[in-house]
Amino acid sequence: PWEYAPAPESRDIANLKSSYRMFVDGKFVDGGGEPLKSINPATEEPLAEVSSASESDVDEAVRAARRAFDDTWSTMPGKERAKYLFRIARLIQERGRELAVLESLDNGKPIRESRDADIPTAAAHFFHHAGWADKLGYAGYGPDPRPLGVAGQVIPWNFPLLMLAWKIAPALACGNTVVLKPAETTPLTALVFAEICQQAGLPPGVVNILPGAGDIGAALVAHPGVDKVAFTGSTEVGKQIQRGVAGSGKKLTLELGGKAANIVFDDAPLDQAVEGIVNGIFFNQGHVCCAGSRLLVQESIADELLEKLRVRVQTLRVGDPLDKNTDVGAINSAEQLARITELAASGDAEGAQRWTSPCPLPEKGFFFSPTVFSDVQQSMRIAREEIFGPVLSVLTFRTPAEAIAKANNTPYGLSAGIWTEKGSRILWAAQRLRAGVVWANTFNRFDPTAPFGGYQESGFGREGGRAGLEAYLDV
Ligand code: NAD
Repeated sequence: PWEYAPAPESRDIANLKSSYRMFVDGKFVDGGGEPLKSINPATEEPLAEVSSASESDVDEAVRAARRAFDDTWSTMPGKERAKYLFRIARLIQERGRELAVLESLDNGKPIRESRDADIPTAAAHFFHHAGWADKLGYAGYGPDPRPLGVAGQVIPWNFPLLMLAWKIAPALACGNTVVLKPAETTPLTALVFAEICQQAGLPPGVVNILPGAGDIGAALVAHPGVDKVAFTGSTEVGKQIQRGVAGSGKKLTLELGGKAANIVFDDAPLDQAVEGIVNGIFFNQGHVCCAGSRLLVQESIADELLEKLRVRVQTLRVGDPLDKNTDVGAINSAEQLARITELAASGDAEGAQRWTSPCPLPEKGFFFSPTVFSDVQQSMRIAREEIFGPVLSVLTFRTPAEAIAKANNTPYGLSAGIWTEKGSRILWAAQRLRAGVVWANTFNRFDPTAPFGGYQESGFGREGGRAGLEAYLDV
């Protein structure tokens, strides 16, 4: 039942080219950096060569963005900006199949997810912000909120196009221009997005895309021509960036790591909860900052819930991301696979009980079996550190108060989940959980109308909703 079914036509659907160039001032150009080699993490085969930026390219892109800001974009009436954003949203939809296949090839995520989640949610983000572009006066920030200027944006590899949309859509809606650096392992859909900007007739310099490694991200956020820095990525790099921009006057938002608690109370609908637990940790191979990576289950129902979970995990299919039946695709890189493997081994060493899906893994590519650790103690690394992979740590609690205390016992605070039949308990718990989003009887739901962001070391600032506009306006 788990046969690997490669789809050679996928390259055509994805319109895959052998090489990609960076996008500066409305043109595709070669960068001065060492080209990146993009590979398919599910096969370890090369996908394309991608030109990468040098520090002088960063300078040129920031200057182009500044010119575009001064000459056209910041003074253009909001209703005109809205038209461009609507066009971009429509083009993402029209090219949705191409983008979904390309995203799965480059990232390793199952096609069902790129097709049904990443791409439509990216389009939705542009539609939502297109609607704001001519209504900023009603956003509650005063009659004439101003854009900040040039936004330097750095994104990770887990949702390449969607993270781009979260960053670029609000920036443009508010009248800012953008220089964005995609992650080094997943630059391809960002460069197709650049084509979409051209197709939409976006004025040159409004959006600039610079592939490159971390040093180019660092050069971008440090550039004196950048007015606003928006970063999504690891807490470690987020802290470096925060120190770097301190005192510069640049506005900063950080969306960082997480270690979310998914809390199941004794009155929860258990079958529904099992689906939410599986979605919470195995969606996108667990490469999700808000993944429900700690399951907190009330002691009285722990055995029953874990048995149901075990049965469900056994049905998960791991394999070819382009197969529509695949539940769990490839880990994005060999480095990430090594990180997950090392952290999981620490769970064994510290005495937790590991069980995994019996689905055989493909022989080539970076894959990791969906894994559950039971008998986990709060002191263990797998209970404290972000694994960013398909690994769930199960802890138990006796009382609701203990559940909240354990859930909040983390330096992070991005998301949490609650499973209970009692509406009053949902409100009680949501008020006490220090997390930017709390899902009740569901998990990993995203909507452009809802602000998303963290507490503590998960970062600050919000993306989406009205609150998300604040990050791109001077009010
Ligand atoms: P990372 O921090 O290593 O890289 C993220 C991006 O930052 C990449 O584009 C990278 O090239 C760039 N970068 C690296 N060093 C830099 C530097 N010194 N200055 C500027 N840019 C630099 O993170 P990652 O491993 O690619 O991504 C995984 C992490 O991202 C996880 O911790 C995850 O929780 C987090 N994440 C958070 C959110 C959120 O919304 N909070 C969303 C997705 C991912």
